[in-house]
Amino acid sequence: MGTMLKVEDINVYYGAIHAIKGISLEVNEGEIVTLIGANGAGKSTILRTISGLLKPKIGKIEFEGQNIAGIAAQRIVKSGISQVPEGRRIFANMTVMENLDLGAYVRSDKAGIQEDLKMVFARFPRLEERKTQEAGTLSGGEQQMLAMGRALMSRPRLLLLDEPSMGLAPLLIKEIFSIIQDINKTGTTVLLVEQNANMALSIANRAYVLETGRITLAGAAKDLAASEAVRKAYLGG
Ligand code: ATP
Repeated sequence: MGTMLKVEDINVYYGAIHAIKGISLEVNEGEIVTLIGANGAGKSTILRTISGLLKPKIGKIEFEGQNIAGIAAQRIVKSGISQVPEGRRIFANMTVMENLDLGAYVRSDKAGIQEDLKMVFARFPRLEERKTQEAGTLSGGEQQMLAMGRALMSRPRLLLLDEPSMGLAPLLIKEIFSIIQDINKTGTTVLLVEQNANMALSIANRAYVLETGRITLAGAAKDLAASEAVRKAYLGG
């Protein structure tokens, strides 16, 4: 298992707000790694920086040995990283199919795109049943599935997931997490941001705990799940 993503001492600002204060982390090929931490700790900011929506002021980001810090988001998608944003951000007035097509916009290999569409429909049968429906009419869980399907349409080697459990009922959360494990098992490396630390730690290999822009703990997910400090702060005692 080689290092796939290497983030080194990044500092990210929103204007004068210093949101990420020197964070380093690694994701190895084949892993599920999770970032947990309270609201506002900086989890989404890290994902947005990796996917090129934000630029680190200082620091390096290497993906498969190439520097990607500060390059255009579209090129980062092309290089093999795809993000499922917080709140899904699907296009509500477009159909399910149109949303999925957009996920493949950086590709031109028609046969490969068709293959991946089949794979997405096999994984999410409800999306196939509803492919001509406007995306805004889908339930919350279906919208999360659409956002994940759209991200998979770029055939990423690294999938960034921002709070996939947000706003979903417990049963659906279980379903989504089992799908994430499945996606991982079929060869996609996953970096998962979650407020639902229990669920995230239960499927991850490793985890980082974030507090106000800094990493305060890191280790094997099962060790963090057992740690007193993590249990008290993030797992409800
Ligand atoms: P959440 O679960 O609420 O998304 P988070 O851990 O993902 O929390 P971020 O959204 O990354 O946290 O926010 C980190 C810090 O940056 C917070 O202090 C937040 O207020 C600030 N921040 C986030 N987005 C912006 C923005 N667009 N403009 C200014 N400040 C921002």
